[in-house]
Amino acid sequence: MNKSTVVILGGGIGGIVTANKLAKLLPLHYEITLIEKNEFHYFAASFLWQMVNKRKQNQVTSSLRKLIDGRVKILFEEVKQIDAENKLITTEKNQLHFEYLVIALGATVDQSPFSQNHRDVHNYYTVEGAENLRNALQKFRGGKISLIVSSLPYKCPGAPYEGAMLIKDFYIQRQLEKNVSVDIYTPENLPLPVAGPELGNSVKEILDAKGIGFYPLQQTTSINYNEKKIAFASGLSVDYDLLVLIPQHKAPEVISKSALADESGWVPVDKGTLETKYKNVFALGDVTSITIPGRWAPDKPLKLPKAGVFAHAQALVVSEIIASRISGIETNASFCGDGFCMLEAGEDLAGFAYGDFFASPHPDVKMKNAGIKWHLGKVLFEKWWLSPIGFTKSFYKMMIEAGAKTLGIPIKL
Ligand SMILES: Cc1cc2nc3c(=O)[nH]c(=O)nc-3n(C[C@H](O)[C@H](O)[C@H](O)COP(=O)(O)OP(=O)(O)OC[C@H]3O[C@@H](n4cnc5c(N)ncnc54)[C@H](O)[C@@H]3O)c2cc1C
Repeated sequence: MNKSTVVILGGGIGGIVTANKLAKLLPLHYEITLIEKNEFHYFAASFLWQMVNKRKQNQVTSSLRKLIDGRVKILFEEVKQIDAENKLITTEKNQLHFEYLVIALGATVDQSPFSQNHRDVHNYYTVEGAENLRNALQKFRGGKISLIVSSLPYKCPGAPYEGAMLIKDFYIQRQLEKNVSVDIYTPENLPLPVAGPELGNSVKEILDAKGIGFYPLQQTTSINYNEKKIAFASGLSVDYDLLVLIPQHKAPEVISKSALADESGWVPVDKGTLETKYKNVFALGDVTSITIPGRWAPDKPLKLPKAGVFAHAQALVVSEIIASRISGIETNASFCGDGFCMLEAGEDLAGFAYGDFFASPHPDVKMKNAGIKWHLGKVLFEKWWLSPIGFTKSFYKMMIEAGAKTLGIPIKL
């Protein structure tokens, strides 16, 4: 059995930030090990540009090793079991002991129950999905594009809406917009209900202005692939020529079958420290379940959205807490609930949204009207993220501060 001190599970957004931050904070004799099944890191936010032919696959991909501080040991293995009680991790090749554990295994995109192995059914939630959709959009000459949110929760509350706007823009650029309609069907009551009604209504106005149909409270029940028809629980039935599906998301099996998960399969954590019910075992990012103030329907409490911005901020907090416990020097690091997003609206424009997701009675997120500056900000963010220079806080902080200044609101991040 190998011995290890801090073990990080998952080398996505949360795992990368945790590894690099701990590498800076911990004395050199502390061993940091990251376990990730994939040697490549894909920057998911750029799948949206990949699908509309603004990025090639290699432009949204990096070797994971290049993004992680050299002192961090990486095991490219699949985590098979987490025994938080006995502080043991089992992979297909190894067993590791840990003193501190950070679980950043994300959410699994599940192709069922609405199988996507059909010619006219696509998604942009994986790098392969975005590539296939790009080919399909280029060949598509006219008809009805339906985008459905198949179930909740899903990653990035803005992504379905950004996707619809970018697809619409793709045909405007090619002067084919008169031949193509784009409609969104979602079980949600408003766009991004997790961000509060102000932002939801702002996004709805943009969709209306772009002629994108928005059909709320529509839970998909079945899809007839031969007849190209979608049925919803409301009784509504609609046709499509090309179907874009936001797939079902699940907690990775190694999590849902572990004692860390609640009945939903996700991991409940303390919302400030991100600690699980086991001491020195932390979980962050998409794999967690954090209830926030507010409801989007009478029986539907809001959960903190699954987004990289939260995984990132939580990773910094967890790293500070682990370093403080190791050094014995107290910290007041705590995840504050603030989040932001550069919402792509097509035509190389984006809006900047920032707000407090822990605000009561519901999250309070404001958005500045779309402009080219925030689109360029998002492009810069992508370049910064995929650069092997290392994750200095300065660019990140500078960008958030500039955004919050234009909104005239104080920031806590
Ligand atoms: C199209 C799209 C657009 C998006 N846009 C934005 C955006 O603009 N802003 C934003 O904030 N967020 C955005 N997101 C969401 C963001 O990508 C995720 O919320 C973020 O990646 C979550 O980070 P994480 O570390 O929790 O999980 P991930 O980044 O998903 O990392 C989890 C890692 O764990 C690994 N893993 C899983 N199971 C195992 C196992 N058993 N063994 C070993 N390794 C394993 C996976 O391979 C993966 O690398 C977008 C997502 C999509 C799909």
